[in-house]
Amino acid sequence: MTSKPRPLEQPGSGPRVALVTGSTAGIGRAVAVRLAAAGYAVQVHGRGEERASKAAAEVAAETGGPAYPVHGDVADPSLVSAMMRQIYQRHGRLDALVINAGIHAAGLLGMVRPDMVHRLFEVNAVGATHTLQAALRLLRRGTLPAVVLVSSIMGRAGGRGQAVYSATKAAVIGLTLAAAKELGPTGIRVNAVAPGYIQTDMLSTLDNDAREATIAATPLGRLGTPDDVAGTVEFLLSPAADFITGQVIGVDGGLTP
Ligand code: NAD
Repeated sequence: MTSKPRPLEQPGSGPRVALVTGSTAGIGRAVAVRLAAAGYAVQVHGRGEERASKAAAEVAAETGGPAYPVHGDVADPSLVSAMMRQIYQRHGRLDALVINAGIHAAGLLGMVRPDMVHRLFEVNAVGATHTLQAALRLLRRGTLPAVVLVSSIMGRAGGRGQAVYSATKAAVIGLTLAAAKELGPTGIRVNAVAPGYIQTDMLSTLDNDAREATIAATPLGRLGTPDDVAGTVEFLLSPAADFITGQVIGVDGGLTP
């Protein structure tokens, strides 16, 4: 059986256009750098305007690729819609969307304040949903459009003191699985990554003992780097993953089976 490869770009349409939410730091920043280096026109996103502009300028300087700032709290649907309008005016479409913005807080069950429960869901689960919904019209105008959501090992395996965060990240997996089924017929692929313990600011609460125990329990014997996750995200967005949708890929050094 022969199959004709689909083109990476429509003729005359320019570089692939990507949005990476929460790309002023950590994993999102590493994804933005990888995509810009690979020739994507990357929208670097942060909650505030100043940090997003600074990060976009840094990504452009580091990679030589085009990077554009966008900003807004993902928990606010009107700000997310405004951001998509800005991208529409700039590029007219989106080819790649990485839903990465997220927050973390730990606490044993019974000890997590109601406002923290609310905020974790509002940013991690509701924010991801707003972002995907608001991006749909732009993605439908894209070429080989693909979405990657950033869940967590906690969303698949849970963890002591992580119940609320784990629940928000399990919600991201549910969103991924349903969206892949719904959007597959329109040509939009949707996958998730589930990082393990990745060295970013988010991991700063891990004390030395917990760090050593995590490394000892990890078959590959180390913590992850933001670039470990970025490489997997880049693959899932690429034409090499053209027949992959509705998958949750662990990037955790073998911590989960
Ligand atoms: P980080 O704190 O370094 O970066 C988080 C990014 O999200 C920042 O750019 C921040 O500005 C942005 N952000 C946070 N709240 C936002 C909001 N309300 N609106 C807009 N932007 C917002 O964290 P990280 O470790 O790079 O985490 C990135 C993603 O990876 C998160 O979704 C996190 O849950 C997930 N994750 C991280 C780890 C880890 O070990 N670091 C493990 C599994 C999953």
